[in-house]
Amino acid sequence: MKNLLDLVKPVAKTENSASSKGIVLKILETMRESAVIADKDNRIVCSNSTAFKEFARFGKPLENFRISEIFRDLSVHDSFRKALERGESSEINFEFFLDEKKVYKVFVSPLEIDDERYAIGVFYNITQLERLEKIRQEFLQNVSHELRTPLTSILAFVETLENGAIEDPENSRRFLSVIRKNAERMHHLINDILELSSIESGRIKFCPGKVALKKMICEIFTDLASKAEDKKVTLKGNISEEVYVFADAIRLEQMLTNLIDNAIKFNRVGGLVEVNYRQTETHDIISVTDTGEGIPPEHLPRIFERFYRVDKARSREIGGTGLGLAIVKHLAKLHGGEVRVSSIPGKGSTFFIELPKTK
Ligand code: ADP
Repeated sequence: MKNLLDLVKPVAKTENSASSKGIVLKILETMRESAVIADKDNRIVCSNSTAFKEFARFGKPLENFRISEIFRDLSVHDSFRKALERGESSEINFEFFLDEKKVYKVFVSPLEIDDERYAIGVFYNITQLERLEKIRQEFLQNVSHELRTPLTSILAFVETLENGAIEDPENSRRFLSVIRKNAERMHHLINDILELSSIESGRIKFCPGKVALKKMICEIFTDLASKAEDKKVTLKGNISEEVYVFADAIRLEQMLTNLIDNAIKFNRVGGLVEVNYRQTETHDIISVTDTGEGIPPEHLPRIFERFYRVDKARSREIGGTGLGLAIVKHLAKLHGGEVRVSSIPGKGSTFFIELPKTK
């Protein structure tokens, strides 16, 4: 079997022959996409190294294999056939399974070389794009759903007021407070979405420095005191005066506020929230422990995803947007650290923020 590079010789052996070979090689090799060229028998005569990396089985070169033997997909086979037999170009989507599933957009076109018909296929790996598109769609769906629920409630109560309830002062006050609660929910949600988007796109100010941890925890406890009192939850910080961590103060406060707020929200009446600190050689570790309902193990792997909640209805009822932990995760990442959780259902949960120490 001849290699394509032997086939692209001009009729006369001139200097052109070297340059034709060079051009074909260069074009295929400089492409980031996979490219293969097949002859009239649908057999691969030339491919670039990206194609070898992505489609070769057991390290065997693609050359001499039929298109169908490599790609094992009818639509790829048909596209090459159409280009070879009818000179038609086509575009298809195709999924390839080797170690993992990959998705490609494939463009196949006829190619004339020395009066012989070939077909060239260029494979754009769109796996990542498809994944991002799926995330985008899910996100939009979630946001629409989260906004629609309070909006429906606002509209229903406004309509009730318009239909006469406004004449009854006691009821109209109650309805107004429901409207306010739902409007606040939408407001929180939009704030959290904007916040998450700023963090993810790196559009936030990030100025790490030495932070006095005990002082920060005391301030957060003061801010959340009335929430804790409502639930008779005790807030306890076991941190000594001299503990300093290296972090952006505003962002660390935001992370800890989210975790302590959750620890109060998901606690039992009369429960306890404790904040502790310890260090390893490389990391500062701050933990927030509660004596609440805990998180069943099957939910733990997804708990930091946007809008993921163990009990959606309950979380909404107690004023959650479902974005708090996603924000904590991204902020921890921004510090070069991470957030982890361990939980015993019925006993409580501990969230750990691990921040790298400065050298
Ligand atoms: P939100 O609290 O607004 O619902 P979060 O992203 O902060 O959203 O939390 C996501 C979910 O994780 C919560 O709905 C809840 O199911 C669970 N969760 C978070 N913190 C705790 C906790 N301390 N104890 C039990 N469940 C928790």
